[in-house]
Amino acid sequence: MTQRDPLDGLGFSSLAIHAGQEPDPLTGAVVPPIYQVSTYKQDGVGGLRGGYEYSRSANPTRTALQECLAAIEGGRHGLAFASGLAAEDCLLRTVCNPGDHVVIPSDAYGGTFRLFAKVYERWGVTWTAADLSSVESVRAAIASVPGQTRAVWVETPSNPLLGVCDIAALAEAAHSAGALLVVDNTFATPYLQQPLALGADVVVHSTTKYIGGHSDVVGGALIAADDDLGARLAFHQNSMGAVAGPFDAWLTLRGIKTLGVRMDRHSANAQAVAEMLAEHPKVSAVLYPGLPSHPGHEVAVKQMRGFGGMVSFRHVEGEAAAVEVCNRARLFTLGESLGGVESLIEHPGRMTHASAAGSPLEVPGDLVRLSVGIEDLDDLLADLDQAL
Ligand code: PLP
Repeated sequence: MTQRDPLDGLGFSSLAIHAGQEPDPLTGAVVPPIYQVSTYKQDGVGGLRGGYEYSRSANPTRTALQECLAAIEGGRHGLAFASGLAAEDCLLRTVCNPGDHVVIPSDAYGGTFRLFAKVYERWGVTWTAADLSSVESVRAAIASVPGQTRAVWVETPSNPLLGVCDIAALAEAAHSAGALLVVDNTFATPYLQQPLALGADVVVHSTTKYIGGHSDVVGGALIAADDDLGARLAFHQNSMGAVAGPFDAWLTLRGIKTLGVRMDRHSANAQAVAEMLAEHPKVSAVLYPGLPSHPGHEVAVKQMRGFGGMVSFRHVEGEAAAVEVCNRARLFTLGESLGGVESLIEHPGRMTHASAAGSPLEVPGDLVRLSVGIEDLDDLLADLDQAL
């Protein structure tokens, strides 16, 4: 009789708290220890205890994180990296060869755009920026370079314009052209959206954001559904070496345990902030998939269990006024990054997305981006009101 995996059938938060995290066999410690070690004693040449030989190749704290990431994304293989961009680099290096083409979102995260435009282009990987909310425009981008598209790269919701696209429809479009569907699930997190179940081949995360959740660690992850792709990614992770260190892996695992409760609160606060901004005379547009007026609202309802903590809005008086709002906010801390328990405010055009200036991915100057934290809602609303 085959033994049943005790984690089979568990819900999201049970997996987040237990997957990959059996009590320590030596002491019974209920939290995986930080194995702050580079190498491991071998019992005779090649006699490895538990498969560990060198911590770039494998480290028990990172293994715990990787197993947990795979479980909560519903994938088979999780890999943890030193940053989100290190994860993206490993993925591109694994799946692309010179001459290949990738379709990227016309509102991609600025650092992702920079990786394609300033790094991979030099190595002969081409890209087309497309409006991914339209499956037709993705098919047209694929058709513009017949037979060359290796991947369609999706961000939904996107950073910073909160665009939403239909993962299942894009998976179908990518697969019918022999391409992979990659989903950057950083904004949604696996609690709110499970791209692999919708047909994606690989999920990318900046775990720096909601997964870590406390603005105290930089990290990245890849989660693959398929054994062959998982093995190729693991080979490149070890060959390129940008792995998550043991302490970073431990902090990220600690963050994951509360991901579900944090995302519920982020989503509730963000919805109320978006509704308040929608009524505000200084605001010309609110970009939040939880508002029925958002063009991607119906798709978001179909593929997400909540709408997340990110809200962007445009100031009626233009760029200088948008910058002033960022400078005047007090409880919302002016800073880059997102996804921590504390609320942040920023001006994407001059901060996170400055690298896209002058490109097709340039963002509007009157745009303000909020990472709505889990503080008391009344305090958040009062702060935004005084800043506006
Ligand atoms: N993807 C998205 C959507 C992001 O917002 C970011 C960072 O802001 C990244 C990827 C890159 O992650 P990291 O900063 O951890 O390298």
